[in-house]
Amino acid sequence: MSGVIHKLPEHVSNQIAAGEVIQRPASVVKELMENAVDAGATAVEVHVLDAGRTSIQVVDDGVGMSAEDARLCFERHATSKLASAEDLFALATKGFRGEALASIASIAHVELTTRRAEDEVGVALRCHGSELQDERPKACAAGTVFQVRNLFYNVPARRNFLKSDAVELRHIVDEFQRVAFAHPELAFTLTHQHANLFQLRPGTFRQRIVGILGAKYDERLVPVSEQTDVVAVEGFVGKPQGARRTRGEQFLFVNGRFVKHGLVYRAILRAYEGLLPEGSHPLVALRLTVDPAKVDVNIHPTKVEVKLEEEQPLLAIVKSAVKRGLGAHNVAPSIDFDVESGLNLSQLRPGTVVAEPTISVDPSYNPFRSTTPQTSSSRSGSGVGSSPTLGQAHGGWRSGGAADWKEVYKVMESDEQPSEGVAGERTQREPPLAMDWEVGAAPLEILQWKGAYLLVPTDEGVTAVHIRRAHMRVLYEAYLARAASGGSSSGAASQGLVVPEEITLTKAEVLALDDARPQLKAMGLEVDVVAEDRISITAVPTDMTGRARDAVDAVLASYHDGPWDQATDRMERWAKTWAHQAAMQGTQTLSLAARRRIVADLWGCTQPQIDPLGRPTMTHWTDIEELFR
Ligand code: ADP
Ligand code: MG
Repeated sequence: MSGVIHKLPEHVSNQIAAGEVIQRPASVVKELMENAVDAGATAVEVHVLDAGRTSIQVVDDGVGMSAEDARLCFERHATSKLASAEDLFALATKGFRGEALASIASIAHVELTTRRAEDEVGVALRCHGSELQDERPKACAAGTVFQVRNLFYNVPARRNFLKSDAVELRHIVDEFQRVAFAHPELAFTLTHQHANLFQLRPGTFRQRIVGILGAKYDERLVPVSEQTDVVAVEGFVGKPQGARRTRGEQFLFVNGRFVKHGLVYRAILRAYEGLLPEGSHPLVALRLTVDPAKVDVNIHPTKVEVKLEEEQPLLAIVKSAVKRGLGAHNVAPSIDFDVESGLNLSQLRPGTVVAEPTISVDPSYNPFRSTTPQTSSSRSGSGVGSSPTLGQAHGGWRSGGAADWKEVYKVMESDEQPSEGVAGERTQREPPLAMDWEVGAAPLEILQWKGAYLLVPTDEGVTAVHIRRAHMRVLYEAYLARAASGGSSSGAASQGLVVPEEITLTKAEVLALDDARPQLKAMGLEVDVVAEDRISITAVPTDMTGRARDAVDAVLASYHDGPWDQATDRMERWAKTWAHQAAMQGTQTLSLAARRRIVADLWGCTQPQIDPLGRPTMTHWTDIEELFR
């Protein structure tokens, strides 16, 4: 039975390790930048071509390597950063395992040029897929240049797995920013296709934040500082006024390493109690310093989660530090947040004054007489029964997509009969509800109860509709219907802004929006990039007028927290968030026309019984007659 077990060849085990450490071009950027920082560089340049697919070059002015070290650094577990195994337990920051370069070299074409200050000549090496190709002396500046070309050239699965250039570049920008945040005392440059994305001068942490996020942030920062035995907290949080609906602006560092730590973040949020509108997130740029022995090093080097000991006291300290910072800066809790502005019907139907419609009453109509169901087209123009939306709901107007939806709005707005052209094209469809909504029995009256509900008489009894949830369902399906039609359906479910709204974002966010532009447009949100950190919003999804910023924030939330890489997933999330933002609160008295339209629109949905969050939109009473027996 000999010869069954083989030791994996070195380059194979390197490739396996690479699978863990190097997931995408951004991982290379991170590893090389961290190495440069570890090498004592004062300035680090990152030059990227084709989002890192073609080339990633990192230039530093650090200590450099001897010719022997330059050869060694590509070996697995070669590191100058661990003297003994004991050091493993005192790892201050990054997960040093001596794996990064070996991994990178096994899946790319790497060129290394390096010189120590004390050496007269440097050395240049070329390495292809773990194999040293060439080594020669080279006259070069002190420091190190790594150039990584054709990443994943020998791992097609990985290469094919890469996302669009925009997505990969966004990951690179994220990693770049994290390292740059952690080291404000160093200079950093990032270029893509030879164009400057960032040029960060050395400075204070505050200057670094402003350098990365933009000058506007300067006035929004509240300093936080606290020194205790457990933890030192240093940095800034954002004023509540600048809070956004995305979690994107959270930069938390533990001992110089970027981390995501939900509990720490929640502690920070608690410090804002009463200051933040629900669902909004403050800027966080905090550096925590703890005893390295108390950070769990058993965390994978590429992971950004950490485990901290003495968590409870630490969380309490972070919270009180932030609270004190906010208090010291007079961020009074009485700030008036005008976020959830109540429903205003002009949002529901932009540009129109909601008036009680004049209904031409059919004198022969008898609400207690059951009439034969008719199709919408056959009914148009027949007195009371011609309430256009109800008829169309039954006819399944929604099958025509978002444009039709808008048509229905128009019809209601002008309170006219639907034209044959609109109604006649609709395909007949079964009512979506379990109960049978008979067109001929279209209720003359729909009551609004306690502001928030509609009471709709039906043949079987009474149906109560939750106004806000119903509206959410209607909007949600309308946004997605528009997207499904590629947005080509006459652009109806979108509202152009008379005055485009310009907003400042981070460069990474602008790249992300640019990346998502086709889908955003399909869903009615149109943005133009006006500068690398500025966009102009020219159109918003239906009912989002006056909420352009919210619409964009919803998109950025999925960029920061996911889902992002799957177009359908992210579009669904946008639709959900937008519907949530735009749906009326159910606090205003609605005209009969508005009440009818909500019911009709809801009845026309594919899933009318639940809202996008899965909550019921309606309930039925069908035992009224029984109760009187
Ligand atoms: P690690 O960073 O965990 O030690 P790496 O594979 O990233 O593992 O790097 C291996 C070694 O190569 C480092 O320990 C360091 O000695 C050397 N090295 C890597 N990059 C540089 C650099 N930019 N300047 C000087 N030395 C470097
Ligand atoms: Mg390293």
